[in-house]
Amino acid sequence: MISEYDFVVIGGGIAGVSVAAQLSEKSSVRLLEMEDQPGYHSTGRSAALFIESYGNNMVRALTRASRKAFYNPPENFTAVQLVKPRQILITASPGKAELLDTFKETLEADDIVEYKSPEEAAALCPILKAEKFAGALLNSTPADIEVHELQQAYLRILKKNDGVISLQSHILDIQRDQGGWAITMPTNEVIRTSMVINAAGAWAGELGMKVGAFDIGLHPLKRSACLVNAPTGFDINAWPMVADVEEEFYIKPDAGMLLISPSDETLTKPCDAQPDELDIAIAIDRIEQVTTLQIRRIAHKWAGLRSFVADSSPVVGFDPIQPGFFWLAALGGFGVQTAPALSKVAASLAQGNPLDSELLDFGIDVASIAPGRTYQPLSDTPTIGVARL
Ligand SMILES: Cc1cc2nc3c(=O)[nH]c(=O)nc-3n(C[C@H](O)[C@H](O)[C@H](O)COP(=O)(O)OP(=O)(O)OC[C@H]3O[C@@H](n4cnc5c(N)ncnc54)[C@H](O)[C@@H]3O)c2cc1C
Repeated sequence: MISEYDFVVIGGGIAGVSVAAQLSEKSSVRLLEMEDQPGYHSTGRSAALFIESYGNNMVRALTRASRKAFYNPPENFTAVQLVKPRQILITASPGKAELLDTFKETLEADDIVEYKSPEEAAALCPILKAEKFAGALLNSTPADIEVHELQQAYLRILKKNDGVISLQSHILDIQRDQGGWAITMPTNEVIRTSMVINAAGAWAGELGMKVGAFDIGLHPLKRSACLVNAPTGFDINAWPMVADVEEEFYIKPDAGMLLISPSDETLTKPCDAQPDELDIAIAIDRIEQVTTLQIRRIAHKWAGLRSFVADSSPVVGFDPIQPGFFWLAALGGFGVQTAPALSKVAASLAQGNPLDSELLDFGIDVASIAPGRTYQPLSDTPTIGVARL
C-alpha cells in the first residue's frame, strides 16, 4: 500500500505534535511516533516550567514569543488554564551569597525579583533550614505548565484537520529518490512525502545520520528526578520551587508531592532513560542536608533526556545536505515553554513562508537556529542557576 502526504513528522513529543498541528491547517500531515503514546519520552518527563529568563538569548526570544499562547490561548484551543504561577526561590549556600548577584544579572529586566534573607526563605518554604543558606532570590515571574493539556490541544487540532497520527510506528526504511521520500513501515505500507520533519527528540541526530543529513552534533543529557511525600500539615502547592544557585538540587511542589532532582546532566545515547540510583541518592542526601525532610520512600522515580547542540539554541530549518529534510530538534530544557513559537517558526519555514512580523519582533533570528550554522561560543548563555534547569 502506498500513501502520500505533504509532510511526514517523525516524533510525537511536544515538538512533533505542535508543528504537525500548525502544518495541518494548510497541508496533509502524517505523524509517526514509535511509542504507544505521544509524549512518552522527554515531553512527559519535564519539570513543566515556563521561565522567561531561562537559556540563551534565542531561547528567551522564543519563550517570550510563546507567552501569549500560554497566558491567553485562543478560546477553541483549550478549556484548561495552561499556566499557573510558580515562584522560584534561588538559594545560595553559606559563603556563596555573591552568586545571587551574578545570577540576578542573568534575569530579564521585567522579572519580578526580591532578595530574601535565610529566615525569609524558610518562611516561604518551611522545610528549609535557615542556617544552611546565605540568602535567596525570589523570582515571581515563572509558571507551571499543564504539559499534557498543551500536547492534547495540539493533537486535537491535528485530528480536526484530518492529520493522521500513527503510534507504535517503527520505520523500517527511509530513502530519498527523485519523487521525494519513501518511508517503509513494518505493515509494508510505503509512505511518500516531499518533506520529512525530524522531530525525533534525542533520536534526531541518529535519524539525520540514517538519511545522510548534516551532523548537528546533538548530545542527549540525562536528568533524574523522583517524587517524595511532602510533610503533612502544609499547603505545599503555595510553596515556591527551590533551586540551588549552583545547580546542586531542586525541589518543586508537584500534585501534592515534592519533585526532587540533583540537576544531573549525564551524556548518554538516545534511549528510554532510566533514573540512576546514585543520582537519586545524591538528590536525597543534598536535600536532607538543607531541609528538615526525612525521605523514607520514593513514590515514583524517572529520568528524561535533554538534548543540546554546542550553542544550546534549537536546530530548526532545512538540512543543508539533504533536500526535503527539515530539523526541529535540540530543544534542551526549553522545548515545552517554547513550543508555541517554535512550531510556528518551523511550520512557516517548512511551508516556504516568511516568519510573521510578530515573531521577528521578538528577536527570533532564523540564521541562528539554522542547521549547519557555525556554533558560536556560549557567551550569551548564563551558566549559573536555573539557566539550564
Ligand atoms: C528532567 C527534565 C526537565 C525538563 N524541564 C523542562 C521545563 O521545565 N520546561 C521546558 O520547557 N522543558 C523542559 N524540559 C525539556 C523538554 O522536556 C524537552 O525540550 C521537550 O520535551 C523536547 O520535546 P521533543 O518533542 O523534541 O522530544 P520528545 O518528547 O522526546 O519527543 C520525541 C519523540 O520522537 C519519537 N521518536 C524518536 N525517533 C523516532 C522514530 N524513528 N520514529 C518514530 N518516532 C520516533 C520518540 O519516541 C519521542 O516520543 C525538561 C526535560 C527534562 C528531561
